[in-house]
Amino acid sequence: MASTTSRPETIDQARTRLAQRARESGVKLRVDVNTGRWYATSVSRPGMEHFCTAHSCTCEGFIRRQRCVHHSAVLAALGWLDFDDDTPVTPNPPLGDESR
Ligand SMILES: [Zn+2]
Repeated sequence: MASTTSRPETIDQARTRLAQRARESGVKLRVDVNTGRWYATSVSRPGMEHFCTAHSCTCEGFIRRQRCVHHSAVLAALGWLDFDDDTPVTPNPPLGDESR
């Protein structure tokens, strides 16, 4: 069932929402081929990039709230979020037989 929300969102829901927002606002990810480091473009400061890892981001939002659009975009790019194109956040699908 969909939410009539009075519950706070889970961290995964927040990250999925932020990843969607990153996409909508045009955040671009770049991987430095020499170091393997991730960088995400800043929306508020064109030309600026934030250094991201799977666990952190150097932007102020992450420092304050431990989450941000850049970090969530990296998680989405890594496939660490349940994140299908244009699909709203859904609960875990029932586990079927995926062996074939
Ligand atoms: Zn950030």
